[in-house]
Amino acid sequence: MVQLYVPLNFMGFVYREIKLAVADLEAMFTLLEKDPEIEDRPGAKPLVVSGGTIRFENVSFHYDPDRQILKDVSFEAPAGKTIAIVGQTGAGKSTLSRLLFRFYDVQGGRITIDGQDIRDVTQGSLRDAVGMVPQDTVLFNDTIRYNIRYGRWDATDAEVEEAARLAQIDDFIRDLPAGYETQVGERGLKLSGGEKQRVAIARTILKGPPLLILDEATSALDSATEKDIQDALARVSVGRTTLVIAHRLSTIVAADEILVMDAGRIAERGTHEALIAANGLYAGLWARQRRADEVREELARVVDED
Ligand code: ADP
Repeated sequence: MVQLYVPLNFMGFVYREIKLAVADLEAMFTLLEKDPEIEDRPGAKPLVVSGGTIRFENVSFHYDPDRQILKDVSFEAPAGKTIAIVGQTGAGKSTLSRLLFRFYDVQGGRITIDGQDIRDVTQGSLRDAVGMVPQDTVLFNDTIRYNIRYGRWDATDAEVEEAARLAQIDDFIRDLPAGYETQVGERGLKLSGGEKQRVAIARTILKGPPLLILDEATSALDSATEKDIQDALARVSVGRTTLVIAHRLSTIVAADEILVMDAGRIAERGTHEALIAANGLYAGLWARQRRADEVREELARVVDED
């Protein structure tokens, strides 16, 4: 009996380990969205980031040859500045960030960082230089500490906790019964969208990349959470060239330049004030967002009063 029991138990252990490993691998591939067709050029050199200026020069791109997605897109994100990208769903905003990360290569034009075409540098060095805070963060089936440390494996516990503090999630973690050792992910504690995004911000703070892509969550967060996330994002983007796929009014207003995407083209660009004055697409988007926000605030008030 004993002999039978031990191997079965052991098999159970192995099975669980394999399942965990598979879940991690899946999460990892989703995170990296790794495209096997993208390879380093022979002799590719590591990217050298001096200031961190990003340029898209006449970029065109399609996923399927019969459907052009980006058409002659040119813009510059000067070192340390924040560029907000706005536009309707499907306009091509996320595609811009995927191209900067080199999940795909452009078919026309080029993307440079401090003058280096991103196709000429090693992918490892490119991805080290670019931090991404996605809308929907994949968590590993592991502790919350592990999930934050993913940003930089050699970070000390104190550094992990400091990053969590800056990302406004340290208090939440400390209130959990197992604190930083709490298991999260599919088989652990399920975190809300706002909490997951703050884990992603903490990871990025630990990684400390010179270039940032922020994909703000579209889902309605309560206004206290939204403010916390906004503060954390503002902190992480100081001194870093930042592209924000923006939905929040406060981010948009504060951006150095706003690009308004429409059907794969930059339809308008400028500061918030200039675009409002131009009374075009942006002014329309802005008015709609304001109305949606007012309705949301009104609903929150009614719920509060009940
Ligand atoms: P946005 O971020 O502005 O909502 P996206 O950049 O995600 O827009 O998408 C732009 C267009 O590209 C959409 O029409 C979308 O359906 C299409 N698209 C996005 N990803 C893929 C893909 N992997 N394969 C084919 N088409 C895609």
